[in-house]
Amino acid sequence: MYRTHNCGELRIGQVGQTVTLSGWLNKNRDYGAMTFIDLRDRYGITQLVFNKQTDSSLYEAAKKLGREYVLKIVGLVSERSNKNPNIPTGAIEIIVQKLAILNGSKTPPFTIEDETDGGDEIRMKYRYLDLRRKPVQENLFFRSKLAIETRKYLADQDFIEVETPVLIKSTPEGARDFVVPSRMNEGQFYALPQSPQTFKQLLMVSGFDKYFQLVKCFRDEDLRADRQPEFTQIDCEMCFVTQEQILNTFEGLTKHVFKACLDVKLPDFPRITYDEALRRYGSDKPDTRFGMEFIDFTVLTKGHDFPVFDAAEMVIGICAEGQADNYSNKDIKKLTSWLQRPQIGAKGLVYVKYNSDGSIKSSVGKFYSDEQLQTWLDKAGAKNGDMLLLLCGETDKVRSQLNELRLEMGNRMGLREGGFNPLWVVDFPLLEWDEDSARFHAMHHPFTSPKEEDKERMLTGDHATMKALRADAYDLVINGWEIGGGSIRIFDRELQAKNFKLLGFTDEEAEAQFGFLMNAFEYGAPPHGGIAFGFDRLCSIMKGASSIRDFIAFPKNNQGRDVMIDAPSPIDKTQLDELQLDLKPID
Ligand code: ASP
Repeated sequence: MYRTHNCGELRIGQVGQTVTLSGWLNKNRDYGAMTFIDLRDRYGITQLVFNKQTDSSLYEAAKKLGREYVLKIVGLVSERSNKNPNIPTGAIEIIVQKLAILNGSKTPPFTIEDETDGGDEIRMKYRYLDLRRKPVQENLFFRSKLAIETRKYLADQDFIEVETPVLIKSTPEGARDFVVPSRMNEGQFYALPQSPQTFKQLLMVSGFDKYFQLVKCFRDEDLRADRQPEFTQIDCEMCFVTQEQILNTFEGLTKHVFKACLDVKLPDFPRITYDEALRRYGSDKPDTRFGMEFIDFTVLTKGHDFPVFDAAEMVIGICAEGQADNYSNKDIKKLTSWLQRPQIGAKGLVYVKYNSDGSIKSSVGKFYSDEQLQTWLDKAGAKNGDMLLLLCGETDKVRSQLNELRLEMGNRMGLREGGFNPLWVVDFPLLEWDEDSARFHAMHHPFTSPKEEDKERMLTGDHATMKALRADAYDLVINGWEIGGGSIRIFDRELQAKNFKLLGFTDEEAEAQFGFLMNAFEYGAPPHGGIAFGFDRLCSIMKGASSIRDFIAFPKNNQGRDVMIDAPSPIDKTQLDELQLDLKPID
């Protein structure tokens, strides 16, 4: 037997018992007459004592043990004279009577402690050692709990979990596919799913009514800190439902997992339309933990001989409360250069300071009298000590620039720390016109339905009508992150065919790529809709972490590589030959 107890289990009540424990040597400290070892397993740490006087050969053996050795001991639970209140087993220690080395260990390349000395790359290479560290393990325990609670909630609501295939067909919509060559079908490829979208819709056609799956999805995109080429979704679909019912069901799921996993009671989620989100925050995923909403100064600022504002389509700004005294001319200059970086691309920044003494100072004081500036401050509801920051330009651009500025000011003012602010963003446009390729793109995906009142217009309307179509599409946003998104689907062949046409598919292309779905729509497809949550991201948001990587057992690095197993890697000539791929093997 390897153990009678685990390393996190023993308490003062067990003093006097003889126990067997197994685990890893976390740390050893030798004091000449005694050696202490912290024995670690998943459940905790227990202190072992080897006393030179009572058993010198055991003491000598213990002294020689290295970090991460795997040990089994038998010993007596004793009360500690020097208790450690920081760990649950801190009241006891084990006077060791027998010691067995189950396995040795090389000295690990970094310390297996909460705070390690290892850099990112080395920890990725030895991920199995990094995964021994408590904070990393706790992330995975959390992930597991979240998955279990998700399944519990959905099962209670009669959802069934169905696995859909991983080897599917490549389609040009959406992101780039990962492809897998087929040995048995020369020159042909499978694709890994970007999501099980069409399959879950087919399951609705089959009558499963409520489907979900915790499912791996694959997208071959350039990586950022919050992206991984393979990631997990909570993927769901329902029949005979309205948008309202979907929002309620998944608001319920979100509230359930926050309560069960974090003991956080979320309030009802506000809903705002896409248009309103852009007008108030310049983003379809606003961080609503703080206000600082956009104020439209277009009318107030025009016609006062300030050519920049006169020429602009839109002049908007935010009111940074209590910031007037914090920003010197130099600070404003710095902020302006930050906004002018190509990533943001603002032309300039105008400020109006409502100083604490009641005076007004502005970078456009030459063009506007204090009375005029006062009307801006009034519109913003500014108080003494506040500062207005204004940008101008074309509507879309200036809104996205001001969004960046709002978030930056939110950061600087400490308004984006902690807390959870979920909301639904609804009524997304169905289509997005792309000037460069002179075609529409699906804002969500090509299976999304226009709103009921827009269906007729979609079949008959002109170009301008198409731009204005609204979809029954919705996103769940928390703290400025899109956590989930979905839509009510088209379930009618004619409307689906029209959508493919608008998206630039010829009839043949639509047939070749999605014929199976459109055919299914001819056999009594029910109205249906669904949603998918980014599971990794939900973990990281709930735990206030910055990267989803921390919640993935074996993540890829920024180049999309798994540096531990060294993948991707070349394959040998025989494999290439079998696949009949005309590629040169790399030595
Ligand atoms: N399949 C969609 C996605 O991956 C979600 C959905 O519409 O249900 O974003």
